[in-house]
Amino acid sequence: MRSHFTDQQRADPVIAEASRIFTTCVHCGFCTATCPSYQILGDELDSPRGRIYLIKSMLERGEAADKTVVTHIDRCLSCLACMTTCPTEVNYKHLVDHARVHIEKTYRRPVLDRWFRAALAKILPYPKRFRALVRLGQFSRIFSFMMPRKLRGMLALVPSGGLPKPFRPENPGRNTQAAKVRVAVLQGCAQSVVGPEINRATWRLLTEIGCDPVAPPDAGCCGALTHHLGREGESQQQIRELIKAWETAEAVGGTFDYIVVSTSGCGSTIKDWGRLMENDPDFAARAQNFAARCRDLSEIVAALGLPPHLQNRTHPVGRRVVAWHPPCTLQHGQKIKNMPMDLLRQAGYDPIEIGESHLCCGSAGVYNMLQPEIAGQLRDRKIGHIKHAAPDLVASANIGCMMQIKSGTDIPVFHLAELLVGDVSSEISR
Ligand code: SF4
Ligand code: SF4
Repeated sequence: MRSHFTDQQRADPVIAEASRIFTTCVHCGFCTATCPSYQILGDELDSPRGRIYLIKSMLERGEAADKTVVTHIDRCLSCLACMTTCPTEVNYKHLVDHARVHIEKTYRRPVLDRWFRAALAKILPYPKRFRALVRLGQFSRIFSFMMPRKLRGMLALVPSGGLPKPFRPENPGRNTQAAKVRVAVLQGCAQSVVGPEINRATWRLLTEIGCDPVAPPDAGCCGALTHHLGREGESQQQIRELIKAWETAEAVGGTFDYIVVSTSGCGSTIKDWGRLMENDPDFAARAQNFAARCRDLSEIVAALGLPPHLQNRTHPVGRRVVAWHPPCTLQHGQKIKNMPMDLLRQAGYDPIEIGESHLCCGSAGVYNMLQPEIAGQLRDRKIGHIKHAAPDLVASANIGCMMQIKSGTDIPVFHLAELLVGDVSSEISR
């Protein structure tokens, strides 16, 4: 695909990179076959190829984003299935990131949209505020019939019942083995509120495999959520704060061998920190340093190995058939495909792949709140495949996907860490 930027435009490193990426697209359209928004909507402008055209045209004109571009970019899930499919390795991720930042800077959304997006950015990355919001959501459910469809969709995702107690680990955790691997563990903003049991299982699993986990109390958000909203400045500030928190912890207790993340959405973003901070002279190298040490939990477990007592366990009701739902941020964002299923097999489960496992479940960060109708259709399609596979359990590696799937089925949904460490209490013995 030829681009037509002026030399002056190319002097901007963002445009220079985008221009280079455009030339790698050969218009073949293979990506449309695996794009969830195209599968649902059937509009070329809701496909990767169509969006690439829109982004190119917007950046070439050098003008403010218009409603058409915003509509079709907003419908993109950033699931990156297109990048897995593309034969010429077009870096769609970087293009859509540039587009989102450009939209945020140049397009004035309707006032309710602006407030809603601002509220998401100001609440979700902060566990105390998020906890209060979930409680408010639970209370508001009785009035949901009076609410607009978008809010009703959001309330459907709010977990029912009381929120679980926060996980407060012994920090640092101490394993009993001679070889120590010191790791920083990201607790995850949403996960620490609605899924602290995942953090508990992750902590246990890490100590069982020979790690000393550390979760610095002032470690906050990795910047993923605001990044996906195109709020570049806020995202970069959150990254700086997290880098400082980890550096402080390293100064006190020693260097981390790895940064371990059990929410694949956050892991995918941290692994890209080097690029996200490349224009910050104070933080570029520091961000890259942490990005290079970032590992998904499955990578660490596979590298250090499941200890014998966690292998080939007989579960209370025989071997359990587990439908593995690979989060997009794991399979497409981090290119981790078979490792989690191999680990489940080692632990004594029967993991199975479900139909269309490459397709997003519709969660996609805050996509299910911003585009509830498309997200709902994707969720129902995913649930249909899960039901067809008839598993005993569903496993995944991202709290957003887990909540999305839980909202559509009674089949128990667990995080990989919980199943590997056997920390699934009553549900697995039902
Ligand atoms: S598969 Fe790749 S090269 Fe082909 S149209 Fe899509 S982005 Fe372009
Ligand atoms: S990121 Fe996902 S939704 Fe967006 S264009 Fe690529 S495949 Fe389609």
